[in-house]
Amino acid sequence: MEQDEGARVLPLRVSDIKQYMYCPRVVYYQYVLPVERKVTHKMEHGQLEHLELDRLEKRRKLVEYGLDEGERRFQVHLHSDRLGLTGILDLLLVTPRGYFPVEFKYSTRDPALNHKYQLTAYAVLVEEQFGRPVRTGFLYMSPGKRIQPVDITENMRIHLRRMMGAIRRMVAEERVPARTRSGARCRDCEYRRFCGDVL
Ligand code: SF4
Repeated sequence: MEQDEGARVLPLRVSDIKQYMYCPRVVYYQYVLPVERKVTHKMEHGQLEHLELDRLEKRRKLVEYGLDEGERRFQVHLHSDRLGLTGILDLLLVTPRGYFPVEFKYSTRDPALNHKYQLTAYAVLVEEQFGRPVRTGFLYMSPGKRIQPVDITENMRIHLRRMMGAIRRMVAEERVPARTRSGARCRDCEYRRFCGDVL
């Protein structure tokens, strides 16, 4: 990935990518118009579930990822000055067959697109930090303990770079983005009271 021209002025977090795809306004509120957000039941619940997933994963065997040997590293801090991007990855599988990022998700549904792009962002950070190509990552969906492999394609890398550019432009221009088209997302959103055009 080439260096984004905004990388030096606005470092981004991997979670920004996920949130921007969910609703661009969430990222706008965080960077342009910092407001006091309400901690929702959904957020507290999500943090507890993440701890539980972490505990369960420590019992999981590599064979369940289709891998036979290697090391598991939890809560890996990733950082790239060149990309202007940071994040903490749930799990990195370091194996003779390559490096595989794993992100835990608490959901009964299939992985959402924003989760796949979050994983793509971790994949490019792993490549930057360890100098090893990443072709595949995994989403560990719980409950159900499903492991979903995700190919990290060239198109996903290009789209990721475009999104990072769009976020930086939005922040630099202080431009309020359109709200998400999914009204269901607004129902339990911690920023809802700041979105006057949301019913
Ligand atoms: S209330 Fe809806 S439009 Fe506003 S930030 Fe939340 S999800 Fe986005």
